[in-house]
Formats: sequence, structure tokens, C-alpha cells
Amino acid sequence: MVPRERLLDLLNRKPVDRVPTFSAGCSQTATVECMESIDVFWPEAHRESNKMARLAASVHPLTGIEVAAVPFCMTIEAEAFGCELKWTDKVDAVPMVVKSPYNVKEDIAVPNEFLNLKRIPVVIDAVRILGEVKERVPVVAGVTGPFTLAGHLRGAENLYESIILDPGRVKSLTNVCTDATVIFGRGLREAGADVISIAEPSASGSMLNNKMFKNFVKPFLQRAVMEIGGLTMLHICGDAMPMLDDMADTGVTGISIDETVDVGEAKKIIDDRAFLIGNVSCGRTLLLGTPEQVKKESLDALEKGIDILAPGCGVPPRTPNANLRAMAEAALEFKK
Ligand SMILES: [Zn+2]
Repeated sequence: MVPRERLLDLLNRKPVDRVPTFSAGCSQTATVECMESIDVFWPEAHRESNKMARLAASVHPLTGIEVAAVPFCMTIEAEAFGCELKWTDKVDAVPMVVKSPYNVKEDIAVPNEFLNLKRIPVVIDAVRILGEVKERVPVVAGVTGPFTLAGHLRGAENLYESIILDPGRVKSLTNVCTDATVIFGRGLREAGADVISIAEPSASGSMLNNKMFKNFVKPFLQRAVMEIGGLTMLHICGDAMPMLDDMADTGVTGISIDETVDVGEAKKIIDDRAFLIGNVSCGRTLLLGTPEQVKKESLDALEKGIDILAPGCGVPPRTPNANLRAMAEAALEFKK
């Protein structure tokens, strides 16, 4: 089976020959080693569709991980809303949101012609260009989850505070952000993305309790998943255990988990409502460990029943390709 066929068959609940590898955690997979191999670097690959697509397409041949993933940051939508980003020339740096144009009391709407603003067309174009590799490798496009985007627009601190002080305003802002997530997600799907991966790092268990998640995150994710349509994945960083049941309720095809979540326990909660993706440690193991440690952790996750083997979150750009290859090899070697 070629990797794309294997992943899509699995997600469509057909039999496959082995566990696929993939990446859906904040979607970033590019390494500095990949950049050096093909002479395409950040920050240009954050801004130019050709370079973005070439770097994403290099990941499978150079690391073995069966995915072509764009974009490499989580600032695309916020920038299109008018937020100011901090850029550096470093090859291992992603842009960050530093300033929002909106004040706390202002009503916010999705800007007109959203799909034509800033780098949104760059990412959509990159997905189109990746059609060239799609014969073999599945294309995943990452979008910022509505609650996380609301944090970019309002300032994360303000948003958490407003949950207590002005919950109605938080809900109406997150609703507007859901519209943006849906518009972008649909645009990416129409451009040819096989999977849309929604990342909600600001909704992690260390920030929100379960009741807050149910009220301020879940209904919006539910709508985003339904209205984007097709195959979707959902990633929440860190300990997502308390919200796994609600995550599975959103109707999403796959749930991407970090290494802090136990695969066996997670599978018990999710049952067959969604596929479980993860959960090799990005920092401790992929970035800082040895290939042997990566392989051991990967085999552990496979043994516990992970459906799709993947990094637990976004891949740190200084990760050695040899470590990513060790993860891919574990999936090849593993026999149920
Ligand atoms: Zn993450």
C-alpha cells in the first residue's frame, strides 16, 4: 500500500497492512536538516507557497514520516485578521503573534475576502502544489482552532479572564473565530488537502477546566468539524485526558495526543468514536533522545494500540532526521 492509500483506508475504516505514520499535532514537521538538504529555509518557506510546498514534500523522502504538512506556524489566521507578527531571520523560528489591532470591548468580524488576505492564499496555493506528491503521500493542512484564534485576537490572558467576567462576549468572539476556521478549512480542503487538522493549544487542560471546555470550546469545535466536512483531526497540547470524551464527541475523525496522555487509557475513553494519533514525545525523545529511545517509545505506543504513529505535537525544527526515521521504522517493524 502507498502511504496515502493506507491512511485514507484506515480513516475510512477499511483494512490496512500496518499502522500508518502521520503528523497532526500543531502540524509542523519540517526540520532544519530537511531545509539544508533541499536548500529551502525559513522564514522564506513561511511566506512563499513554492518553498512551503517543497519543504513539506521533502519530509517524507528525508525522514520516512508519511505526510506532507502545511503551514509550519499557527499565525496564518491571526495575521489575516490584522494581528502584528514578530518575525526573525532564524531558520528554526516560527512567527509569533505580538499585537492585536482590536481592543477588549470592540466587536470583531471576519474580514471580507478572508481567503485572499496575507498568507492565507500562500498556504492554499502550497496545498495545490502538493497535489504533485498526493499520489503517494497524504496532505494535511493545519488550521488554528476557534478558541486559540480568539486568544490571538483578544490576548490569551484577557480571554481567560473574560471567561469569568464576560462569558457572553467570549462566546460571541469564539463564534466569529469559528466562521474563520471554517472558511479557511473549506478553502484548504477544496485546494486538495486530504485532512484538515485543527489545533487548540490554548484549550489545554492546564488552562481550562472541564466545564470551561464544554462551554467555551466544544460547541465551536463541533460546528467547525461539521462545517469543514471531510476528514478532520483535533490536537490539544499537554494533558488532554480530562477533555478526551468531549473531543471525541465533536465528530472529529482523529484525535492527536501528546506523550502525557496514556494511549491505553485514552482508547478506553474514546472507544471507536475517533482514531488516536500520537504520541511520541517531541521534546524529550524526538529532539533530545537517541534513535533507539525513539524506537522504544514508538513501539510502546504501538503496543498500547495507537492507531496512527506520530509526534505528540509539532516537531521541533532542530529534531535530527535520524530520530524521525526511527519513528517511521518502528511502524514498519511492528507486528500486531
Ligand atoms: Zn501541541
